[in-house]
Amino acid sequence: MINVCDVNVMKPLLAQHGFHFSKAKGQNFLIAPWVPEQIAQQAGVDETAGVLEIGPGIGPLTQQLALRAGKVCAVELDKRLEPILDQTVGEFSNLEIIWSDVLKQNIPALVAEKFAGLRPMACANLPYYITSPILSALLEARCFDSVTVMVQKEMALRIAAKPGTADYSAFTVFCRFYAEPTILFDVPAHCFLPQPKVTSAVITLKTRQTLPWEVLDTDIFFRVVRASFAMRRKKLQNGLAAGFPELGKQGVGEVIAACGFDENVRGETLDIAQFAALTNEIYRRRHHD
Ligand code: SAM
Repeated sequence: MINVCDVNVMKPLLAQHGFHFSKAKGQNFLIAPWVPEQIAQQAGVDETAGVLEIGPGIGPLTQQLALRAGKVCAVELDKRLEPILDQTVGEFSNLEIIWSDVLKQNIPALVAEKFAGLRPMACANLPYYITSPILSALLEARCFDSVTVMVQKEMALRIAAKPGTADYSAFTVFCRFYAEPTILFDVPAHCFLPQPKVTSAVITLKTRQTLPWEVLDTDIFFRVVRASFAMRRKKLQNGLAAGFPELGKQGVGEVIAACGFDENVRGETLDIAQFAALTNEIYRRRHHD
């Protein structure tokens, strides 16, 4: 197997194919072999797993996944990588490469078609310019056991943040609604070529098979969350009044009181159960009118 993480192997390989990194496609390739090994190992990839990889690049993580998994499907946007991947991962019969933009894929359909009888997982060193849309699509697909990805450290801290902290955001609530996050390890910039300007971190999201909160309407739930964080420094009352003008100021006050919250509470201090309580109160009022 070609050691694609060795710069003395990688650079001539890229030169041989006239390949130049595309910043626009988020191409920072791994040059530290311990990183893809640890991602595959700590994600718990084994022969029962069907792994969707996003952005194989020249294949360092793909190799580690294909060595362990029952099947790997890797979705890559950049067709220029085809002859290189032929050389670096062509030997794996349990690997399929799909040349496409992952955001244009119907992920649940792809998983159902490719991973029948296997435990679906997602693993990736993500292109950072589209981290949020990819993670949203992977979690909303609700078909993976776990999603283990390398992201900017700042993003990992946001995803794993606790209520009331500076990193806590609407995206935190979105991720934690579908999954339980754990930050696995940091990856310094010198582990990539070219070096990014930021530190990275690998995070695993263990997806929830059943949701531990009763949420009567998911659309209202995410509207509540967005409205609660839209005016971070202001009271929840103001954010909800702006996000739900149909309730009016008085209606918003009544919803907050019915949930047992202080009228001065700020949205950024609420946990998912409390956002669920607000959602269900708004839902009941709508359906009683
Ligand atoms: N996995 C390789 C590694 O760790 O060295 C490459 C990771 S690099 C950070 C991100 C990869 O995602 C690149 O190969 C890039 O071409 C690919 N990519 C970027 N946008 C994509 C998209 N919309 N769909 C699929 N792949 C994409």
